[in-house]
Amino acid sequence: MTQEDYYEILGVKADAGADEIRKAYRRLAKKYHPDRNKNDKGAEQKFKEISKAYDVLSDRKKRAQYDQFRRLGKQGYGGAGFDVFQQFGGFDPRAASRGGREIRFEDLGGMGGLGDIFHDLFDFGGHARTSRYQPQKGQDVYLRIDIPFETAIHGGKTRVRIPEEETCPVCKGTGAQPGTKMKKCSVCGGSGRLQEGQGAFAFSRPCPNCYGRGKIVQKPCAACHGSGVVRKKKAISARIPPGIKNDAKIRIRGHGKPGIAGGPRGDLFLRIHVLPHGKFKRKGDNIYTECTVNMVQAILGSKVEVDTLDGKIKLRIPPGTQPGSKLRLKGRGVAADGRTGDMYVVIKVKLPAKLTAPQRELLLQFAKSAGIET
Ligand SMILES: [Zn+2]
Ligand SMILES: [Zn+2]
Repeated sequence: MTQEDYYEILGVKADAGADEIRKAYRRLAKKYHPDRNKNDKGAEQKFKEISKAYDVLSDRKKRAQYDQFRRLGKQGYGGAGFDVFQQFGGFDPRAASRGGREIRFEDLGGMGGLGDIFHDLFDFGGHARTSRYQPQKGQDVYLRIDIPFETAIHGGKTRVRIPEEETCPVCKGTGAQPGTKMKKCSVCGGSGRLQEGQGAFAFSRPCPNCYGRGKIVQKPCAACHGSGVVRKKKAISARIPPGIKNDAKIRIRGHGKPGIAGGPRGDLFLRIHVLPHGKFKRKGDNIYTECTVNMVQAILGSKVEVDTLDGKIKLRIPPGTQPGSKLRLKGRGVAADGRTGDMYVVIKVKLPAKLTAPQRELLLQFAKSAGIET
């Protein structure tokens, strides 16, 4: 998996423009799409590679970082760089084929750009030779958050409440109700650890009876129910980039679980769930909405007011508009990653349920002139 050249995979030159890359991707994705190549493992693999390459090359920031690594790779730093890149990207080909996209988040004054990758390179090295005496990065935390449709389109900030654990302030982490006595643990004799094995194979593990505390709580602390930790919710503000898709991930550095032995905190991963909108539906970069006009407006043409993502506009309904026809509003779709989608207004026609006598007379005349039998 190392040293894949994303440009080669898409069959484009390294200086290809965004348009060219998108066209190459569409052509190849069509050709190797699993729906067209049922039970063809080779095509499936190819499709994954194409999706992965496009995920990186279609994102201005990711592409710039990849280009830097590609240059390093050519100078002989090769494999490590690509491995780390993949690790840092956390890429999920299934998400990409669904239209999801990993989005990295700059926050906490992060180093940004290449610095971030080297930061990850460090983390990677740390995990590779994990030892309990070395500082370790805390666990990552995953949270699913709902965001309004408009925020997903225009981008913006959203408040995220994240659960955090801290030492119980009432019992100071002992788990015992203040003023009550604790009993020495009979299993470990108060040491909190149990010895196992012999000689060179001897090791100790935390006592399961007292959870390594060496003492047994007689009366649990009311505030933390004896656990010694309390959960609280901390609110942070997360930036949502414009055009974010449903199921996309956002990484916020340093908001995961605390590190071990002075290591950095883990990261927080937000999985975005875009709430449905009553008026608009999104398909790729395009937005769909409906507009109901009456029979006469559809036949003779008219001007109607429709809601767009940027407010109301006047839409011209041409004479003879058929029910279900789509009118395109160019550039009124989702604007993200240098692309702008369109808006489609689907026309519904409402027929009058009741007619007055003169209206009926007029329609009969119309039927007569059009040769319609009634
Ligand atoms: Zn407590
Ligand atoms: Zn014990």
